[in-house]
Amino acid sequence: MAEGHAVHGMAGRVRQLVGQRGRSSGPATDAFDPELLDGLAVSGAEAHGKHLLVHVADTAWSGHFHLGMHGRVSVRRHRRALGPDGLPRTDPPVREGLAWRWLTSAYLLEVTRPTICELLDPDGLTALHARLGPDPLRDDADPAAAVARLHRSRRALGLLLLDQSVVSGIGNVYRAELLWRARIDPHSPGNAVPVEALRTLWQDAIELMTVGLGAGWIVTHPEQLVAARDLLVRDEPVPRWPKRYAVYLRRGRPCPRCGAAVLAERMGLQTAYWCPGCQVLHG
Ligand SMILES: [Zn+2]
Repeated sequence: MAEGHAVHGMAGRVRQLVGQRGRSSGPATDAFDPELLDGLAVSGAEAHGKHLLVHVADTAWSGHFHLGMHGRVSVRRHRRALGPDGLPRTDPPVREGLAWRWLTSAYLLEVTRPTICELLDPDGLTALHARLGPDPLRDDADPAAAVARLHRSRRALGLLLLDQSVVSGIGNVYRAELLWRARIDPHSPGNAVPVEALRTLWQDAIELMTVGLGAGWIVTHPEQLVAARDLLVRDEPVPRWPKRYAVYLRRGRPCPRCGAAVLAERMGLQTAYWCPGCQVLHG
């Protein structure tokens, strides 16, 4: 499943279409009627956690998409011949699983196989934002609110980090690596972890996921992080180096910090990985 940085990356690609009128098509459902957007222009795109929102000018509707395990958003340039209305004369063939297509004079945006594909009005948008926790990659995320949400719960921190109503955008890889970097055992109840440690964890989530957004993949290894940041400040692309994790998918292998064997256990819907040697169980 795409973690939050990937969905923010998709929103950035969709923003290439801002201001361009488009032909909107796709199968109409009770929740999504592509005709309501036809001929209008994309006015913006944003992510909140793993949810993608596409805003359209001159209508109250926004497209709301969640990609789940198999969904995909693609934005490509095309060179199709244009008709008198400034839009392509013909549509490309329909791909399997297509939920929404937005065809402008220069770009083709396609959403395939999402688990959520619906139109939301302003009240629906407000309700969606309200039910999602703070997202480390959103400018409007309040760090104090995020820390307070983690600290007021007796549930395990490893569960809280994946609960999108508590904080949003963090997925299983970031959960494992963030808790290892913070030296916190995922079973520690949120309210037993010192506030200062939670603040540091949140700040680390912002930094790691910002690099992930810029690189287009999850970078957590210290040397790779330094190298990736270096490239990103120079506005250069980060190559896809071999992924090196401290604990994620490393069950039974030695912790790079203390050498203890990494443990793995189902925690929530996904497997948690942690080091029993250097990650402290609070509470
Ligand atoms: Zn360790």
